[in-house]
Amino acid sequence: MLAVKLFGPEDIRLVECEIPRITADEILVKTTAAAICGSDLRMIENGYRGVDETHPLTLGHEISGIIAKMGENVTGYRLNDRVTIAPNFGCGHCKNCREGDYHLCEEYRAFGINIDGGFAEYIRVPKEALSQGNVIRLGDEISAPEAAVMEPAACVLNGQERVEVEEGDNVLVIGAGPIGVLHVMLAKARGAADIYLSDLSAERLKKSAQIAPYIIPLDASGLEEAVMEKTRGKGVDVCIVACASGEIQEKSLGLMNTKGRVLFFGGLPQGKDLIRVHSNILHYGELKVCGSTRCSVRQCESIVAMVKEGKLRLRGLISRQFEGREFMEALKYARSGRGLKTVLIFGNKEEEPT
Ligand SMILES: [Zn+2]
Ligand SMILES: [Zn+2]
Repeated sequence: MLAVKLFGPEDIRLVECEIPRITADEILVKTTAAAICGSDLRMIENGYRGVDETHPLTLGHEISGIIAKMGENVTGYRLNDRVTIAPNFGCGHCKNCREGDYHLCEEYRAFGINIDGGFAEYIRVPKEALSQGNVIRLGDEISAPEAAVMEPAACVLNGQERVEVEEGDNVLVIGAGPIGVLHVMLAKARGAADIYLSDLSAERLKKSAQIAPYIIPLDASGLEEAVMEKTRGKGVDVCIVACASGEIQEKSLGLMNTKGRVLFFGGLPQGKDLIRVHSNILHYGELKVCGSTRCSVRQCESIVAMVKEGKLRLRGLISRQFEGREFMEALKYARSGRGLKTVLIFGNKEEEPT
């Protein structure tokens, strides 16, 4: 089968390899679509711990597929079920795992991060992932490419649960990349009132407004003045920083209404994560600042349900689709930053799993 494997920094290869064998407790998923994430781009650029010439890793953690083969002990699924895979699973018994937050487990494992992922024609789903519910059945309402972008949407839901986006909130999202646009869409679905989106690029803001016409675009220069003008000097209830800038994280605190909540979504580059905060802004405004990382299986299931119910439309997020074997071209496009999500489609091949 075809697989896209990382061997080290800037060493990503399309390789032919064996279809994974499964045990009696495992499932083999045939990939239909897999989306490229910003973290894939960072892993390709920087390499990843444990990954080298002799330990290559198949990337891809935003995955949809169909069940191609099932071990004899597996129940609850059927062959050819259309599925999406929540990427993160844990030890199953620590406190975070017991609370369903497998993505915070110290021994967390994830498809495409530290076990082989979805940039391949087939994916082996280990027993632990199966028993934690990571394989989520789709039904026919959701297309394969949309199902592939379920995972970033679930990460965004994790953030919005942490920062408690609620009905009637005025929400500012800073950064109009795929994550920023997902934040806007989800805030709308959760009943936010005014939704502001800010970005350095007027082009990106324009494109975002085509997907989410309800946004109020705000130019990044003079952001504070613009926010205060729009909110009559109050500031916003929620600010989501969806760009990797410590400077903007610092600035965000000055944009908040009393009892405002701020989410730092995504990490900062290593060595650049020290920021300065006017502590009195937090104190007198009774602000809350939180972070979020990855997503839980429950959050993935919630997103699937929202898409099924028509509360969230992910289609507009997908800018371009490439065939799996066109990965290098897809990578180039994803790196250009011109679009939002780039999705790889894995076609029907004759070869059968053994
Ligand atoms: Zn991702
Ligand atoms: Zn655990």
